[in-house]
Amino acid sequence: MLAKSLAVSLLGLTATAIEVEADISSQLPNFVLVGLPDASLSESTARVRAAVVNSGFAWPARRVTVNLSPASVPKQGSAFDLAIAMAVLAANGSVRSDAMADCVLIGELTLDGSVRAVNGILPMVKAARDLGAARVMVSRESLAEASLIAGIHVVSVENLKQAVGWFNMTLVDEGTENICVGRIKGVTADAIAIFDAPDLADVIGQDLAVNSLLVAAAGAHHMMMVGTPGAGKTMLAERLPGLLPDLSVEAALETAAVASIAGRSVFGSDSASLDRRPKFEAPHHSSSMAAIVGGGLRTPKPGAISLAHNGVLFLDEAPEFQTPVLDSLRQPLESSEIRLHRAAGTAVFPARFQLVLAANPCPCGKAFAIEGCKCTAISRARYAQKLSGPLLDRIDIRLVVQPVSALKQKMVREGEVTPALTTAMARSMVAEARLAASTRLKKTPWNTNSQVSANYLRGPLKLPGQATRALDIALNRGRMSMRGYDRCLRLAWTLADLAGRNSPIADDVAQAVLLRGNDNPLGVQ
Ligand SMILES: [Zn+2]
Repeated sequence: MLAKSLAVSLLGLTATAIEVEADISSQLPNFVLVGLPDASLSESTARVRAAVVNSGFAWPARRVTVNLSPASVPKQGSAFDLAIAMAVLAANGSVRSDAMADCVLIGELTLDGSVRAVNGILPMVKAARDLGAARVMVSRESLAEASLIAGIHVVSVENLKQAVGWFNMTLVDEGTENICVGRIKGVTADAIAIFDAPDLADVIGQDLAVNSLLVAAAGAHHMMMVGTPGAGKTMLAERLPGLLPDLSVEAALETAAVASIAGRSVFGSDSASLDRRPKFEAPHHSSSMAAIVGGGLRTPKPGAISLAHNGVLFLDEAPEFQTPVLDSLRQPLESSEIRLHRAAGTAVFPARFQLVLAANPCPCGKAFAIEGCKCTAISRARYAQKLSGPLLDRIDIRLVVQPVSALKQKMVREGEVTPALTTAMARSMVAEARLAASTRLKKTPWNTNSQVSANYLRGPLKLPGQATRALDIALNRGRMSMRGYDRCLRLAWTLADLAGRNSPIADDVAQAVLLRGNDNPLGVQ
């Protein structure tokens, strides 16, 4: 007897349809799994056999061969258990094989026959739909996540017995049928988002820093902050995601797919609809390469740069990160994705993040302080060199964050200084500026000013000489590099967008020069 079921394999976010074939032959009893299964998949033979028997079905007293094809596609993990068990049960005549023809089966089995959730439900269900399946069967725990994908029927079951019952159409009698027509829940244009994110209004007496953050959000510019410990760098960085607009459904699904593979929640603050807020990832400087860029021996897992996809990646104490980790950021900054090469194949994860770096001015952190720094020239130089030119080249905004003085703190307490901006105000300014930029860039591959190429800046977006006069002089006198020049132009466009101007004026360019800061932000010669 030969029977088939369908499953989906994921490598990175690349999905492949897997056909699970079970054959029962007249040879001596045995259970063989073929088709490049890795070690974790081989363990599923034991789980599947126990689950079938403990669910009250007979295990064939003959040779059972299960083939997963195409064999060339790497297959990992426990998500194939349900499909393997159902193929065997179909070959055995316990379940109607024809009924399973258009249904992808995803789930791990426990020894007692329960169907368990697996990581990566969201991208697997999406893949099942894109591959043309009409239905997908998942565990009860995975129902809500699977239902976020529109255009495919989701059937959820608690155990193997219910799965068999559903295909044999006996499940209705037991009253446990649960079909959900997938849809994106809770996505309405005028929904009022509730944020538990920290507010910009908490930042007082840091007007330059707040303004820089606003510009970074409006133009999606990468940013670096240098300042003594306690100057408020982390406080500022944490507030950047709140200034960013909601993600489009498409972008939110990409980010959620990465979260799903990592075993994280894909739901927003209401715990029911797709999370459309940009993520904030802040890995510690001692984090491993795998934790930051992704990796793992068998199944490549996404790292912080992919979990931050369409959001903010914050590296506090950036010079303390391992040099290879910092160097590895260059590829994703260039191509918005990370390719992880493993023996099993190459996993590709998306990684389009807004980078925020923070650094102390020197290893002891006191270079700006009155009592002075005790670091040696060599240790300061080594510290500064950790942030290499190619990485800094991508950072449009370099900001020096000064601690708020005692006098200013006193004025704040006495109500003489009020916050410059609230997060809500800033977010609406950012939304308007982004709309202006995306309208201007409509016929280009870009949406935000930070993405615009140098050729386009100096071609179709060329500014009149009177606007760029200060920049031109600096360039001609060798006080500014061509790259620095282009970064100033990108910032000037964002400043004009925030001010509601059609095109930057000399004032915007002058402010851009200030925001761009020093080519050598740690100040070591
Ligand atoms: Zn120092």
